[in-house]
Amino acid sequence: MLNLSDKHGMIQKIAEKLAKDKVAPRAKEIDSTGAFPWDLVDLYKKHGFLYLMLPEKFGGLDGDITSLCLVIEELAKVSGAASLIPLAHNVGVMPIMVAANDEQKEHIYSKMCQADKTCVVAFALTEPDAGSDASHMRTTAVKEGDHYYLNGKKSMITNGANAQFYSVFASTNPSKRTQGISAFFVERDYPGVIIGKSEDKMGMIGSDITEIIFDNVRLEKENLLGKEGQGWDIAMSTLNLSRPAVGAQAVGIAQGALDFAVEYAWKRVQFGQKLADFEGVQFMVADMATGVEAARALVYDAAHLLDMKVYERDKMSAIGVDKMSAMAKVYSADVAMKVTTDAVQLLGGYGYTKEYPVERMMRDAKATQIYEGTNQVQRVVIARDIFRNRMG
Ligand SMILES: Cc1cc2nc3c(=O)[nH]c(=O)nc-3n(C[C@H](O)[C@H](O)[C@H](O)COP(=O)(O)OP(=O)(O)OC[C@H]3O[C@@H](n4cnc5c(N)ncnc54)[C@H](O)[C@@H]3O)c2cc1C
Repeated sequence: MLNLSDKHGMIQKIAEKLAKDKVAPRAKEIDSTGAFPWDLVDLYKKHGFLYLMLPEKFGGLDGDITSLCLVIEELAKVSGAASLIPLAHNVGVMPIMVAANDEQKEHIYSKMCQADKTCVVAFALTEPDAGSDASHMRTTAVKEGDHYYLNGKKSMITNGANAQFYSVFASTNPSKRTQGISAFFVERDYPGVIIGKSEDKMGMIGSDITEIIFDNVRLEKENLLGKEGQGWDIAMSTLNLSRPAVGAQAVGIAQGALDFAVEYAWKRVQFGQKLADFEGVQFMVADMATGVEAARALVYDAAHLLDMKVYERDKMSAIGVDKMSAMAKVYSADVAMKVTTDAVQLLGGYGYTKEYPVERMMRDAKATQIYEGTNQVQRVVIARDIFRNRMG
């Protein structure tokens, strides 16, 4: 049970209502057609979910990581894809929150939050040959006078095809490896920004993952976020901020599958009794529920630590927030995979059909073990933090 402030409680209630009234009835259709649900994104905008952490003067909710987790969890209970769109959007906004100066924020936020247009943002780090090892990126931003020329290809970018703005990471000095990476804010309308192929995914269908190609895109120096060479730290700070929200998404998917399986077990009769009366089923449900609660506790613990405004990397490391953030993501994603698989099992043959939502939830859960750093990579982060002071 979470002990929420009034504001957090209100945000959660709004998200819960929107999820139940507007998203749940669309979940099956979004999964089967794969069409990007612009109508829902418009509703997210109306409810402030696209500007969760932005100041109120831009229409934002002045929220924090806990607010983001609450919204994403509620949406994910009914649709993984419908939760991924605002999640990836908010991740795309984070490099700006972390690194933009006041002038840049004013400029970007007012463009992003214009009343007559719904603007989606994407976070563009991964490349075809640089996934877990993102530091080996090939995208470059070469400085000439007051401009940078951006060239390269990003891949599997959520919201990529539908975004108006991208937070892009590129090397301004390849010989310096991570210290040569810089972060840029890029608009879809800039000449040379090309939307490449979209992937045909296993799950999270309805949210797109797309290649973005940069063909000699001319950027102003004002497009640089932070300073040259700070991009790697900006990307890592962003991922530390966003991982609890991926954990919240996984918790939501798992909770949705658990709730459905419990209802089913209560109604389905075999051998003359409810499934819920079999001890074997009860033990499964008990383990599923325990996993979900433990994951939720980790997620909101990590979110709370981040909300104590310990964003700066040195402070963050000092109190182990990197580790907590990674733990929240890795544990919740593994729980979601297990719980959704068990939910399919509890529904038997019907669980394996598209008539029921648990197979969709199982496909959606898989993605949470892969993006925002795979679960193996999270374990590397956790172990590195644990052994930090002992390693030479
Ligand atoms: C649905 C979806 C949405 C995504 N959205 C975005 C997005 O918005 N923006 C973005 O930038 N990227 C996005 N990605 C990309 C995602 O972040 C990468 O897929 C992920 O980081 C893994 O990279 P990779 O696919 O190249 O796998 P690889 O890095 O090639 O990894 C392959 C396997 O090797 C393992 N592995 C790699 N290195 C190690 C190691 N050191 N130790 C142990 N095991 C290791 C991995 O865990 C994995 O199991 C998305 C991906 C998906 C599936």
